[in-house]
Amino acid sequence: MKLPSLNAQILLGAIFGVAAGVYLHGLGAEHQTAQTVLYASGLVGTLFIDLLKMVLIPLVFCSITVGIANLRQHQQMQRVWVTTILFFVSSMAIAIVLGLAASLYFKPGAGLSINLFEHAMQNFEAKQLPLPEFFAQFLHGLFVNPFAALSQGNVLAVVMFALMLGIALVMGGERFKHLRTLLQEALDVTMLIVEWVMRLAPLGIMALLIKLVAGQDVAMLAILAKFVAVVVGTLLLHGVVVLPLILYLFTRMSPLTFWRGAREALVTAFATSSSSATLPVTLRCASQQLNVKPEIAGFVVPLGATINMDGTALYEAAAALFIANLIGVELTIAQQLIVCFTAMIAAMGAPGIPSAGMVTMVMVLQSVGLPAEAIAILLPVDRLLDTLRTAVNVQGDMIGSLVVQKLATTSKD
Ligand code: ASP
Repeated sequence: MKLPSLNAQILLGAIFGVAAGVYLHGLGAEHQTAQTVLYASGLVGTLFIDLLKMVLIPLVFCSITVGIANLRQHQQMQRVWVTTILFFVSSMAIAIVLGLAASLYFKPGAGLSINLFEHAMQNFEAKQLPLPEFFAQFLHGLFVNPFAALSQGNVLAVVMFALMLGIALVMGGERFKHLRTLLQEALDVTMLIVEWVMRLAPLGIMALLIKLVAGQDVAMLAILAKFVAVVVGTLLLHGVVVLPLILYLFTRMSPLTFWRGAREALVTAFATSSSSATLPVTLRCASQQLNVKPEIAGFVVPLGATINMDGTALYEAAAALFIANLIGVELTIAQQLIVCFTAMIAAMGAPGIPSAGMVTMVMVLQSVGLPAEAIAILLPVDRLLDTLRTAVNVQGDMIGSLVVQKLATTSKD
């Protein structure tokens, strides 16, 4: 019997995972079968993420170094670099404006009483994270001994070192050709391992979704329904309309063609809630299915996985306004601008791991004097919303690589 394609298997795994999660939720946490299935799902899901994380660091290191080293001419390197950063900043800015506008319009949280959440807030201690300190910490984390960064799985520091090594390889030209070939082969062999890991993706994704859906706190979801609806609606607007429109305007690629090539990465991001863990899959989709040149994908996608987070930026802005509404504070235009700016920095600084945006959001709240403890209110729905915002984050990286390829490379390249 012929098995369905990997794409179809992943989609089926995701649908089955959600359905089984809903069923187990209905059985209740005490039920013996539910407990056994949840235990097994936890194990399988974690193993899948472990496998992705296992290949992540060698992959980031090799793909960025080789990507840059292949952008031989100095001018091309500069074009790619500048276009990438411009794309990241502008798409995140659009996402933030959408998040703010939707919250201003729908005013989630306005009718709710803060007393409802007093208990959660009392038991929660937010780590103080003033903007200058956050910024200093972020800068400090960029340059680290590469061996320590590689062994500790510090993605951002590995990205920085790989960038420098790639530039040095370009400058050195023929002198370093052996090292370049070696890194290229290391990249190819890592991608081969990614292919193997992907065979387990349908099962891993199913397991992760069973666990996630079965563990949802439905009562809290109902209380925060309006906020959840605004965030989900705006994320969908950004992911289904805005980003595909940007893609179409710049590259003429139809959203359907994009979706067909990108869906493995989108579903993996949804299930893992981690841009970093999804990176091996994102890179595979961009270079093998969306036909982005390896040197562009190898640079834009890993960099994007660590700093380009449209979904997170949108969420942080919307959540700040939600909390302001809840407390009954009206933010001035100047304060809204501060939220825009800090949400961007906070999203860029958030590592691509589950709920990272939640931690950096403390900074956004503090920047306009909102109580950091209020994020305790959002914790119960955070994992659920993290699925969609991570998928949008990852989508932005793939679309970024396609747009950069179109704008920064000419037929001569
Ligand atoms: N989970 C997100 C990601 O990995 C980050 C976040 O918003 O928490 O992209």
